[in-house]
Amino acid sequence: MTLHGKVAVVTGGSRGIGRAVACALAREGAALTLCARDRVALEKAAAELEASGAQVLAIQADVAQAPQVEQVVEGCLERFGSVDILVNNAGITRDNLLLRMKDEEWEAVLSTNLKGVFHCTRAVLRPMLKQRGGRIINLTSVVGVMGNAGQANYVAAKAGIIGLTKAAAKEVASRGITVNAVAPGFIETDMTHALDPGRQEEIRSKIPLGRFGTPEEVAELVVFLASDRAAYITGQVLHINGGLWM
Ligand code: NAP
Repeated sequence: MTLHGKVAVVTGGSRGIGRAVACALAREGAALTLCARDRVALEKAAAELEASGAQVLAIQADVAQAPQVEQVVEGCLERFGSVDILVNNAGITRDNLLLRMKDEEWEAVLSTNLKGVFHCTRAVLRPMLKQRGGRIINLTSVVGVMGNAGQANYVAAKAGIIGLTKAAAKEVASRGITVNAVAPGFIETDMTHALDPGRQEEIRSKIPLGRFGTPEEVAELVVFLASDRAAYITGQVLHINGGLWM
């Protein structure tokens, strides 16, 4: 186990990629603090992880709300005494063409996907700086580098995460904290199941490996970045997309 004794916070740990990341971190021995907005789904995911032997704290929180994020980090510190790994995974889509995009759609996506990353990063920095070490891993997306019609809000947020990752990496490198981004292509989760089947097929036809990825495949990359083996990697965007973008 590569993460024995480490403590991780995973936002959006109740479903999809976040849940797979939580499982993989737990398998490697990390204790977990998970947050999401839907308490029922969150507690179900936490109970399943605990049943497999993991130490899990579940706190209902919206990453767009700074005070709620502070409570998650305080709760983690109270229960486990440190925070070594932050996985900024919580994300939503509100797709629309630019001409039709409503202010609410823009704001919802930017608040959760980009401001949420800012809130969580700021909240863990004090304990990580004190510990003189930590790992921050931000979920961006292939569309943050490629662009995507109908997703200007989401693409702007994901491109923003890449900039935030690089700025933060430079700011905290001297304290032994690494900050990296993982950019998945299309992964089998509720987020992509919401796309209409014709669109899913069109995307699949453009992926050299011929299929969507799995949440578990993304989780393996996150675990690697969280481990000591990735100590010399910071400020990078690691792509995992079946060859869709190269
Ligand atoms: P998902 O299945 O829709 O799960 C999203 C998770 O985030 C859920 O646990 C959700 O729980 C939580 N969440 C959403 N808004 C939140 C908020 N404001 N505060 C706290 N938690 C929140 O999504 P996914 O496909 O696993 O995506 C995970 C991350 O990977 C996202 O950042 C996404 O943009 C990125 N990504 C996904 C793909 C893909 O193809 N699936 C590709 C590239 C990047 P609640 O709804 O209960 O809050």
